[in-house]
Amino acid sequence: MLFALQASAPPLPLVPLPASVHRDQGALRLGRPLTIVGGGKEGKTLAEGLKADGVSVGKGGAKVTLKHVDGLPAEGYRLKVAADGATIEATTDAGLFYGGQTLRQLIGKDEIPAVTIEDAPRFGWRGMLLDVSRHFRTVADVERIIDLNARQKMNVFHWHLTDDGGWRMETKAYPDLTTRGAWRSYPVKGKWDYAGITFPAQRKGDEYGGFYSKSEIKAVVAYAAKRHVTVVPEIEMPGHEQAALQCYPWLGCDNIPAGRKPNAFCPGKETTFVFLQKVLDETMGLFPSKFIHVGGDEVDKGLWHTCPRCQSRMKSEGLKDVDELQSYLIRRMDKYLASKGRRLLGWDEILEGGLAPGATVMSWRGIQGGIAAAKEGKDVVMSPTTHLYFDYSYDSIPTSLVYSYDPIPKELSAEEAKHVLGAQGNVWTEWLADEADIERMAYPRAAALAEATWTPLDRKSWPDFSARLGLLMGSLDRLAVKYHVDAPNISPSLFLTDEYAKPNPPSPIAGWQLMLDTGKGTASPLTSTYDTMMVPPGVKLSLFYKRDSDGAVSPMTTVQTSTGMRRADIEGLDSGLNLWTATGSFSKAPTSLRGKATVVTEISVASKPAAEKYALRFAGFIRLPETGAYVFTVRSDDGSILKIGGVPLVEHDGEHAATGKTATVWAKVGVYPFDLGYFDAGGANSLSVTVTPPGGKEGPIPVSWLWH
Ligand SMILES: [Zn+2]
Repeated sequence: MLFALQASAPPLPLVPLPASVHRDQGALRLGRPLTIVGGGKEGKTLAEGLKADGVSVGKGGAKVTLKHVDGLPAEGYRLKVAADGATIEATTDAGLFYGGQTLRQLIGKDEIPAVTIEDAPRFGWRGMLLDVSRHFRTVADVERIIDLNARQKMNVFHWHLTDDGGWRMETKAYPDLTTRGAWRSYPVKGKWDYAGITFPAQRKGDEYGGFYSKSEIKAVVAYAAKRHVTVVPEIEMPGHEQAALQCYPWLGCDNIPAGRKPNAFCPGKETTFVFLQKVLDETMGLFPSKFIHVGGDEVDKGLWHTCPRCQSRMKSEGLKDVDELQSYLIRRMDKYLASKGRRLLGWDEILEGGLAPGATVMSWRGIQGGIAAAKEGKDVVMSPTTHLYFDYSYDSIPTSLVYSYDPIPKELSAEEAKHVLGAQGNVWTEWLADEADIERMAYPRAAALAEATWTPLDRKSWPDFSARLGLLMGSLDRLAVKYHVDAPNISPSLFLTDEYAKPNPPSPIAGWQLMLDTGKGTASPLTSTYDTMMVPPGVKLSLFYKRDSDGAVSPMTTVQTSTGMRRADIEGLDSGLNLWTATGSFSKAPTSLRGKATVVTEISVASKPAAEKYALRFAGFIRLPETGAYVFTVRSDDGSILKIGGVPLVEHDGEHAATGKTATVWAKVGVYPFDLGYFDAGGANSLSVTVTPPGGKEGPIPVSWLWH
């Protein structure tokens, strides 16, 4: 018998979305405990995970059977949930673990929905970097982040252990690295002050810092391994070395001018290589990871030009510039790590001066480094600042942008694309002093990246993900994760006149309170008393949502009350608007263009000049036929500014895709100056303006309203 599923069935709470999900009829009821059968240590791990989720596990209940089978992809699994029990099959332990994670996500209050899932990841590298040098995190904080990521099947934790801000890995051969180099004194504690970094030889006890002992590191590695997460350590070289250089100045060049704090080691000295190899020996002793990250980024090579030892090294090795000198150091480390059965990983600067033969590249300054390395036949991990820097603001990298990221650049052939191991998000902590700051920047962007690296490309859908993200946030709430919340998708508007502003709130959103700040610095819930509120011209009103449960706030919508739309009492006008055009690079909508104007009756890009980059300015007068509230919407790609009566009404400037912005204005009947600036910085281009007159419907501005 076939049963039709209701069309309105809610989405399953799965992130990342599995490769194939079939929803079956019925469910496994949770009245009794779940009995975990088989799977060896993976069975134990699943039982622990379920208990942590508050699910009853014990004997005599519905069986969850874990089975090793042949022939499934690495990390792949099959999960079947039916009314009488569940089965997880996989070829590897990792596959059993991921089947278990999916099961945990599916568990509802009283039941687990019946499903048949076949799944395997698109990429083998699904990572996140945490910088613990600039701001230190405790072992508990680090483990919490590893666990949160593992729930979304991320499998690499890139631990940025050494940098200018402090050395965080206990290193027996060079004990000062942590007794001194992990503790910085600071003019202002808790903030980042690169120029002010010093590591006092005599500690006063109020320094900022911390480090991980060897046993703590081993515990973190084991904690991660249980969740099938590889911890990739990063030991920066030869730059970002303020901590090490202040402890052991002999690692630097001999020509350091007084007062200068160098950031780079001297590659001219053999003692530098002895140091690096001993540090790497201890690193490899702690971390079983095949990949060892050696940094290689942002090296200040300035002193190398004049250091006698560096110059002598360049001469003896036939190196033509300082880039090749850095490459020489990286090549020696590559050879050293390879001799120990490991692989060197570095930031894309290691391409400069020639890439070491065994090196793998992490592409961060965009994707060009990754493309170049893959074309050389080298493996790469993509981590571009454009999409995957989780310390950047949500304004510059929204969750949807992370979600849209495809680690395979279009420039690569199918064969070259095989060198893309995957992608990772980076959380640098210069400005993130607390665990809550980190969680807010990482989540939900890490969840978006988890899906972008796991789910088949043709299964990705932002609307579908958004719906599931709402469910994921419920589980993040239970874990008290301080994730970022995007603004509710609304546009609170205001009626503006010369004399007053009246908020025009949208329909209420459950769980959220609309707040209004009238420029006095304190916000109040928006109530009906504002219906008659009088706000003088020139005041900034800010509207935002506040969530009842935890006080989280959405970004503000800020509106400046009108400074007074000026009417133009002019007669003898002709129909249509003046249009001026210009070609060339613009980054802002023009406020004045020169030359001869043409007259147009339509606002669009139809009359654009024959050029890729250009600007338009439509100017003249608009006749508003009655007194009341008008809603103007400008949709443009790229930027635009609409002024009416001399007041910037819709400010939609800057480079952006085809999006719309709306303003509501209350206006008296009459003729007003009209001015619309627009530019296109290349690529797609579009422009339209619509108006909703008082009591009317949205449409293009009627030709009979436009004059010049
Ligand atoms: Zn030197």
